[in-house]
Amino acid sequence: MPSMAGQRDYYEVLGVAKSASFEEIKKAYKKAALANHPDKNPGDDTAVERFKECAAAYEVLSDEDKRARYDRYGHAGVQGGAGGGSPFGDVNDIFSQFGDIFEGFFGGNQRSRGGPQRGSHLRAAMTIDLVTASKGADRELRIQRKKSCEKCKGTGAEPGSTPHRCDYCGGRGQVVQSQGFFRVQTTCPACSGSGSIIRNKCTECRGTGRENEEVVLQVRIPAGIDNGVQLCLRGEGEAGAGGGPRGDLYVEVQVKEHPLFKREGIHLVCTVPISYTQAALGGEIEVPLLSGSDTLEIPAGTQPGEIFRVKGEGMPDLRGGRRGDLHVQVELQVPRKLDAEHEELLRKLAEYENTNVAPHHKSWLDKLRDFISGDHDDEEDE
Ligand SMILES: [Zn+2]
Ligand SMILES: [Zn+2]
Repeated sequence: MPSMAGQRDYYEVLGVAKSASFEEIKKAYKKAALANHPDKNPGDDTAVERFKECAAAYEVLSDEDKRARYDRYGHAGVQGGAGGGSPFGDVNDIFSQFGDIFEGFFGGNQRSRGGPQRGSHLRAAMTIDLVTASKGADRELRIQRKKSCEKCKGTGAEPGSTPHRCDYCGGRGQVVQSQGFFRVQTTCPACSGSGSIIRNKCTECRGTGRENEEVVLQVRIPAGIDNGVQLCLRGEGEAGAGGGPRGDLYVEVQVKEHPLFKREGIHLVCTVPISYTQAALGGEIEVPLLSGSDTLEIPAGTQPGEIFRVKGEGMPDLRGGRRGDLHVQVELQVPRKLDAEHEELLRKLAEYENTNVAPHHKSWLDKLRDFISGDHDDEEDE
């Protein structure tokens, strides 16, 4: 894969507009992937790279969340976890993930050769809060997956018997049919792609070679992880058919929204209310931190919406760089209710500032009191 700096724009890769609909993106990807498929470009090494680039672009642009992050932050917003880059190891990974949209072109799945096959990748999700995201953590994750059947060691044949080579496909697991210009490979209907026929099926797994298991895995969440980042646990996916190796497990980490902090990359943003007097005279305000709180000096003449930086109180950088900052945006708070003294002071201030303010409104009770005491002047007296 090209490095982050040299990465092409995903919209450009697929040749679609920024406003393209999901259907347009899917169509463009299908077209680009078929044109660059390594089978169609024998001997062209760059085809594989182009093919992977298309798949990486499609992975992001076909996912509403990832696309929104990409639109906002570019490649940095959708780069995978510690490993970074595309989660695809090879071309077949791409088919195991997006294979469904190629149905009919390459025979759906790419179980090309008989014998042991690597298991498919699994996906899981995990939700953490922002404080955990900032510190990192070890979490347990319970998943259901397939394991190799213990009784038949994954072969699917009853111990003591052996599978026979499939006569229909000659053990290749695939059959080729010609349709006009296209040679279409499909999974062998007789052996379902395994290349062998089991006459005496294992009674434990009924010939599948795999059985379900529930496992609890330890997942290390790196400090600084952002919402939507995928962690890859190599070799923790489904067991392969015929005793093949396990696929990988991708864990998407969701970081819950925090009531006070918004995240922008490695920085955190929060809003803190201040009063007119604090803004005008300056003073110390209390600001929340991920761990507790701190005081922040604001200068006289602070304007509403002004942003102050508290260095190093943001999120850690996933790639080991400098820790982000906390950006405190002050918000001018206007009292909703005033007691008599407060109002009087503000009216004096308005007078001093020569500001035209609304006249004092007497309450119904005031008016009643005035009426009883015989004080019949008009309602505005101040
Ligand atoms: Zn078995
Ligand atoms: Zn067959």
